[in-house]
Amino acid sequence: MDFGWTEEQRLWRRAVRDFAQNEIAPRVREIDEEEFIPREIVAGMADVGLLAPTVGEEYGGAGADWMMATIAAEELGRADISLAVPVLYLVEAAWGFIFYRYGSSGLKQEYLPRVTRGEAFLGIATTEPGGGSDILGACRTRGQRDGDRWVFNGEKVYISGVRESLDWGGIHLMLARTDPDEDAGHRAFTFFALPLKGTGGVIPTYFDDMGRMGISTGGFALDEVRLPLEHQVGELNKGFYHAMEGFSAARTLIGATCVGASEAALAMGMDQIKLREAFGRPIASFEGVQFPLANLYTDLEGVRLSTYKAAWLMDQMYRHGAATHHDIALAAAMAKLKAPRLGFSIMNEVADWHGAMAYTKECPIEMGIRGIRSYSIGAEGTPNVMRMIIARELLGKDFLPTLYTNKS
Ligand SMILES: Cc1cc2nc3c(=O)[nH]c(=O)nc-3n(C[C@H](O)[C@H](O)[C@H](O)COP(=O)(O)OP(=O)(O)OC[C@H]3O[C@@H](n4cnc5c(N)ncnc54)[C@H](O)[C@@H]3O)c2cc1C
Repeated sequence: MDFGWTEEQRLWRRAVRDFAQNEIAPRVREIDEEEFIPREIVAGMADVGLLAPTVGEEYGGAGADWMMATIAAEELGRADISLAVPVLYLVEAAWGFIFYRYGSSGLKQEYLPRVTRGEAFLGIATTEPGGGSDILGACRTRGQRDGDRWVFNGEKVYISGVRESLDWGGIHLMLARTDPDEDAGHRAFTFFALPLKGTGGVIPTYFDDMGRMGISTGGFALDEVRLPLEHQVGELNKGFYHAMEGFSAARTLIGATCVGASEAALAMGMDQIKLREAFGRPIASFEGVQFPLANLYTDLEGVRLSTYKAAWLMDQMYRHGAATHHDIALAAAMAKLKAPRLGFSIMNEVADWHGAMAYTKECPIEMGIRGIRSYSIGAEGTPNVMRMIIARELLGKDFLPTLYTNKS
């Protein structure tokens, strides 16, 4: 076992941290108050290689491995505790990888260089009005072949980046039911690359979120939307499996993002407790303040290690063929289960240390509380879904009738 970093990883962390601390951190309040992340920040991310970094260089990506992608997620979380920039980063990193892996070469040529230059958005659309946890039961969006076209009808909700996609252009990887047989189970869904901008029959909606204001959450109805066949991503009726692969990647990066934002919050909190005095002493000298700090820091270190392990397993699988999708799903679910909830607890505790100031916008912690709640509620999977995945990997799918009632 080696807890050290390679020279390349050290240099990468330094480059990302320098960029993030200099260009993003000073503008977080502005990002929280605007509709879009400022274009110059997105352009700067492109220059550093932070947009869909695991995409190969032939499409303008950095060809980064998952450990490097995870380091970047941590640094972006540290710089932007509102989490808007990390969301842009991790959604594109995880789902851009799936598109890079399974998309048709013509479509990849059309979109990936624009995504990696920051000129187009790439997102994920699985959730529907009927629910996000039970994808098999809730995915009612239908895709039907009509000659040389796929035709879609349905609706997706709570989708990150709808406004960005409509404004900048780009695609959302959309899951649609392509086998009407209810007994087809997991093998009933296919992934498609859906450009929201300029596609007839796409009717967008927006949600007014509580946090991570710099990136939009919306949805769209699909009314007889027609796409050429090359917009199919991956194999017919294998979309569920491609989605699970993307979720594992996204959950690993969410773990790292939440670790970075939690570290930033703890650092902010420690500055505060060393400076603030009560009863004639810095409040840092009271055990009632020190013990929660010690507990939270210890928990954070555990979550950080489990996040790094998930990233390491991903590199083991994708680079060396030495791990399985099951290994990754388990590790990523553990990181996603713990990191957002711990981050939320850390931010609440740090808010306590700031007293009344924490309840004002003078103190950035309120942006962090609002932002990290998105991941502890369930963006890219709820805590209970993480528990189901962990239990499934430990017990086998026969004991999880809620997720695996089908015949596949
Ligand atoms: C800010 C934000 C951004 C998002 N961005 C995207 C996006 O870009 N693309 C996308 O596709 N989706 C996105 N989502 C949606 C997200 O994936 C869903 O919120 C998530 O999958 C949960 O679905 P749901 O909200 O419909 O809750 P539900 O599935 O209705 O779940 C509600 C509650 O019931 C619990 N529950 C459900 N089933 C069980 C069970 N069997 N056992 C125990 N408990 C259970 C859940 O854990 C949860 O607590 C986003 C969500 C948020 C909040």
